[in-house]
Amino acid sequence: MTATEPAAHRIDTTRPHPARVYDWFLGGKDNYPVDERLGQQIMSIDTGAPRAARSNRRFMQRATGHLAREAGIRQFLDIGTGIPTEPNLHQIAQSVVPDARVVYVDNDPIVLAHAEALLRGTPQGVTQYVQADAREPHTILERAAAVLDFGRPVAVSLIALLHFIADEDGAHDLVDTLVDALAPGSCLVLSAMTADFEPENVRRGIAAYAAGGVTLVARSHAEMGRFFQGLELVEPGIVSVKDWRPSTDGETEGEGPVSLYGGVGVKP
Ligand code: SAH
Repeated sequence: MTATEPAAHRIDTTRPHPARVYDWFLGGKDNYPVDERLGQQIMSIDTGAPRAARSNRRFMQRATGHLAREAGIRQFLDIGTGIPTEPNLHQIAQSVVPDARVVYVDNDPIVLAHAEALLRGTPQGVTQYVQADAREPHTILERAAAVLDFGRPVAVSLIALLHFIADEDGAHDLVDTLVDALAPGSCLVLSAMTADFEPENVRRGIAAYAAGGVTLVARSHAEMGRFFQGLELVEPGIVSVKDWRPSTDGETEGEGPVSLYGGVGVKP
C-alpha cells in the first residue's frame, strides 16, 4: 500500500470510476449514483453492456481455468482486478491448483477497500493485493516479486484494462515491460474493447465515458495483435471474448456481438 499517498485511497463519488461502472453493469452494490448515471447512459446507447461485462468475466474464468489446467500455470499476476465479483480469479486458479499464488493489482481506492474479499483463498495458496498504477509496471513487478517467483512461469492478465490506457499513454510499454520480465512458458491474457463489431455504438459509448472524464480507446484486431508480438497465441487466437473457447456446459453467451477482444499468448 502506498501509505504516502492518502489521496489515492480516497473514494471520489463526484465522478464516475471505471471499476464502479463495471460493478454496476454486473449488478454489484459497490457503486455510486454518478456511476449508475453513466451506466444508464451507456445502456441507452447499447442495452447489451451488462451482457458484455458478464461475457468478459466468463472469459477471465475460462482463460484462468485453461492456464491452471492445461498450461501448468501456478502463479498469476492480475492487473486491473476490479471490485471482487465471485468467482474471482484466485478462486478459479486455486480450485484447480490449491497452492496457486496470486497477486492482484488495481489503482482504484474502492478495490483496495474490498481487497480483503480478494485475499480469502485456500490455506495452501497465497493471494496478495498491491495498490498500484498499471502505468508503472516496474513498481508492480518489484512488489509482485515478494510473492511470485519470476524465474518460473507466471500468467499476467490484463482483463478489460487496456482500453483505459491509450497507446500514447504507454499501453505498449506496459505490456512489453511485463512480458520481458517473464520466464519462458509464461502467459499473457488480454481482453479489451474493440469497435470492429459495433462501430457506431462503441463510438457513442466512448463519447459518453469521455463526457464523464474517463478515457476509453477501442482497438482493432491488428492493434490487439501487436500486444502479443513475440508470443505464441493459443487457439482460437484473438476473438470476441464470447468466442474464446466457449464453455460446453450449456452456459449461453447470448445473441449478437460482444465488443471486447480476448486472447492468450505463451512466451516461448
Ligand atoms: N479485470 C476485471 C475488472 C475490469 S474493470 C474484470 O475484467 O472483470 C477495469 C479495472 O481496471 C478497474 O478496476 C479499474 O480501477 C482498473 N484500472 C483502470 N486503469 C488502471 C490503471 N492505470 N492502473 C491500475 N488499474 C487500473
